[in-house]
Amino acid sequence: MTAENKTIIVTGGAGYIGSHACKLLANVGYLPVVYDNLSRGHDWAVKWGPLEKGDILDPDRLGEVIKKYQPDAIMHFAAFAYVGESVNNPILYYQNNVVGTYTLLRVMLEHGIEKFIFSSTCAVYGEPDTLPLTESHKKQPVNPYGNTKAIIETMLEDLAAGGQLKFISLRYFNAAGADLDGEIGDSHDPETHLIPLILNAADGKIPEIEIYGNDYETPDGTCIRDYIHVNDLADAHLRALQYLQEGNPSGFYNLGSETGYSVQEIINAAKLVTGKPIKTCISPRRPGDPPALVANASKAKQELGFNPQNSDLDTILTSAWNWHNDNR
Ligand code: UDP
Repeated sequence: MTAENKTIIVTGGAGYIGSHACKLLANVGYLPVVYDNLSRGHDWAVKWGPLEKGDILDPDRLGEVIKKYQPDAIMHFAAFAYVGESVNNPILYYQNNVVGTYTLLRVMLEHGIEKFIFSSTCAVYGEPDTLPLTESHKKQPVNPYGNTKAIIETMLEDLAAGGQLKFISLRYFNAAGADLDGEIGDSHDPETHLIPLILNAADGKIPEIEIYGNDYETPDGTCIRDYIHVNDLADAHLRALQYLQEGNPSGFYNLGSETGYSVQEIINAAKLVTGKPIKTCISPRRPGDPPALVANASKAKQELGFNPQNSDLDTILTSAWNWHNDNR
């Protein structure tokens, strides 16, 4: 790293995954400049560099911040990411995710910034034809959220083909867990994610956890997902940045632990980690939920050196439980 390439603009750096990436970037000597409108992020999560408040839909403010810091790359976490909300309010998702990212790309290219690390999702695959999922699986999103991310990926491919941009698109599976030092963690309102809701049920904040469907074609009938620790995602962002800085080509990468756990298995494991009883009830399937999603992350392992260290279920649940208890 040289003095010229150590500043990174991190959109959405006040959010869950973005803040963990900022901590890691700062730990290895980068300056993460957070660009966030704080609509869903938190100023308390910005601890490792300046916070520049701004919206990705605001080209003037983006231009001002890019001009001020002259970053070597942009890591783009800022997005809306609730599947259910995207179904009910697609225009919000096309506006914020697609138009917002388009605006960011336009302004960064105008300022000669060429490296872009993008937060994508396994939702671009929709209902998988085969498991585990590789990057060559066809893209067929089943909800507006997945569509917005797939559209952005197409934009990135076109810009890279035109020689204007180098990008790495990281397709996260289920982000989970919290900072092992307890400095940051997830904080969503409303909370819709399985693990934080299970922990809410464990400490009595909610009476029970609803299992969305127990009649899937899986061994215990509940949905299987691939949970990846947020620190391992952060690590992959650092590797992606360095990969582009070394002059390597653009690409798409799955980020998962390559192990699937069912909803019921997560609940059982959470009972052990928390030492609490957790009441459950069976609810209808949630629309748009595929029965199973599991990553093949070989490409990220081979090309980026991705090597998840914290994604065993015990570390995921223990770090999430510690964060939950410290921040009740
Ligand atoms: N899930 C559930 N009850 C809940 C929340 C989630 O059974 O209260 C299930 C959901 O159907 C999915 C898995 O847990 O199979 C993970 O859902 P989450 O919303 O955490 O992440 P997603 O897979 O939607 O990104």
